[in-house]
Amino acid sequence: MKVLVKDQIINSADANVSISDRGYQFGDGIYEVIRVLNGKLFTEKEHMDRFYSSAEKMDLVMPYDREKLTTLIYDLIKANNVVDGHVYFQLTRGVQEPRNHAFPDNVEAVLTGHTKIYKRDLAMLEEGVSTVTADDVRWLRCDIKTLNLIGNCMAKTKAAKVGAEEAILHRDGLVTECSASTLLIVKDGVVKTHPLTNLVLPGITRMVIMDAIADANIPVKEEAFMLDELFQADEAILASTGHDATPIIEIDGKPVGNGKRGPITAEIQRRYDLRIEQECGK
Ligand code: PLP
Repeated sequence: MKVLVKDQIINSADANVSISDRGYQFGDGIYEVIRVLNGKLFTEKEHMDRFYSSAEKMDLVMPYDREKLTTLIYDLIKANNVVDGHVYFQLTRGVQEPRNHAFPDNVEAVLTGHTKIYKRDLAMLEEGVSTVTADDVRWLRCDIKTLNLIGNCMAKTKAAKVGAEEAILHRDGLVTECSASTLLIVKDGVVKTHPLTNLVLPGITRMVIMDAIADANIPVKEEAFMLDELFQADEAILASTGHDATPIIEIDGKPVGNGKRGPITAEIQRRYDLRIEQECGK
């Protein structure tokens, strides 16, 4: 497998990073995951916008311009013959010796990336997944796509231990998002999701779904809601680059609605597929 290290595509066996890299020592960096479909980056612009926005929020200096970064990402996909899958890339603040919490001056940020090959999980999109609820113990800048993911990892592990796909996070009962995805619910034909504040990541899949909802004239409220509202929802959707718009059919062992994919979820998925077709072809 080929990987990206700085601006070079090399064999993964030849890749190494310094133990003094701030990404390794502090989780000081940012990342993106972009879906590859038919060899094309789906929602490339939106992901690149967010990558640069995360960098700005962290005072990280991008070592390459956007055109160069996009070329490197496409070179990596081609080097690994990725037709369907994803590309992961991250940027750490770089190597600093001796270790010091304060951001250093004049250190070059380090870009790395790898790919994964897989097809869209059509069975999961139809049958849905089960979830559990978990405390949202993360920090207060969840709007930044940083490498600091231990709170997310702890929640996802709670889900994995009981064979659930995802953990739905809440702060004292107020539902935010999932450990690695956005959450949307539907009640009486109205879609609800947490507004874009510091408590959630501005999901790209969320953006595509919001466009689909607007096109379909489905009413939507970007409003926070509590756990009791979650449990009374008719439908619930887990949205992420890896999951597209996946129906949630169970939360903490209780069925969502009738325990099957609902009509609004199906309509969102239909429009989501059209968007994929427009950008990446059939
Ligand atoms: N929320 C969190 C915490 C995430 O980690 C992710 C994806 O990794 C998302 C939401 C969904 O973001 P996107 O749709 O851009 O993949």
